[in-house]
Amino acid sequence: MAPERIVIGVDIGGTKVAAALLRGRVPAAGARSSSDVETPEIIDRFTVPTDSSSPEATLRSIEDCIADLEHGSGPVDGIGVGVASMVDFAAGRIVESVNLPLADVPLRDLLSERFGVPVVIDNDATAAGIGEWVYGAGVGTNDMIMLTLGTGVGGGIVSGGRPLRGASGAAAELGHIMIDVDGPDCPANCPNRGCLEVYASGPAMGAAARAAAEREPASSLGRELAAGHLVDGRLLTRLALDGDGVAVAVLERTGEYLGAGLVTLSNIFDPELFVIGGGAAAAGELLFEPARRVLAARALPPARDHVRVVPAELGPDAGFIGAAALALTELFPGDRGA
Ligand SMILES: [Zn+2]
Repeated sequence: MAPERIVIGVDIGGTKVAAALLRGRVPAAGARSSSDVETPEIIDRFTVPTDSSSPEATLRSIEDCIADLEHGSGPVDGIGVGVASMVDFAAGRIVESVNLPLADVPLRDLLSERFGVPVVIDNDATAAGIGEWVYGAGVGTNDMIMLTLGTGVGGGIVSGGRPLRGASGAAAELGHIMIDVDGPDCPANCPNRGCLEVYASGPAMGAAARAAAEREPASSLGRELAAGHLVDGRLLTRLALDGDGVAVAVLERTGEYLGAGLVTLSNIFDPELFVIGGGAAAAGELLFEPARRVLAARALPPARDHVRVVPAELGPDAGFIGAAALALTELFPGDRGA
């Protein structure tokens, strides 16, 4: 059995930096499902708002968060960081960031020097994918793809039993798979149009819900809009789960777009499993069922015949668990066979 280690997992987003002190170990090879593995235990946690007024201020928020946990915990074995940015994994450097002033910051080495322990950094969606692979819905698979539906659409790919990072460490930007060549401009820092993110992110669901509310003023969505309420992805999901037909139809269309993205991914990577997570995936089967239907009808055999589409399992602490899984698997590669 792999040794137990104490790590700090950090999840850096545009609005908050959240970190946790965790105790855990890499599961033995041969675990078949998440019920065979022990998820790292969260001993302590600390969250600060991200101060994005300058690169120095943002770095200070990150360091304060880690220092608070380290203080009193005794020595930690390593730090894993998932950051909402494009990351050069091999160099440990943030390349580009939409919501954080951290472009070109060598975050791994800065944190390693400051805290005197090994550090690994990666894109937050890739870290979340590694978390699901090691401790969640993807346990026991060698080929799985995670999509995170949130403010944007993020992704993580495990191919042939290894996280896939690409030549510059920036692979798996799955939100930018093109769904429609002539589609709307991508809202992210992306030169493309008609990206999956334009159709399947939380804000995209909100926009589709508002359009439906205007088209169907007598529907629950239409009445919420007329009453001056905020019609967003969260309200859409709530009304759909309550059975409102117009809201269900909007989510069904969103699920079909998601399915179109899965068709492309299935044809390229032939995964065993698609894991769908993130706050905007809260509608569950209302999104997954239409996605599976499109996947089954339009992807190539034999990949389409065995691939499964399942919800993420790690829940609200997925960011910490993903960062911890990143630290445990990357900083202590020998643990996997121990
Ligand atoms: Zn894009």
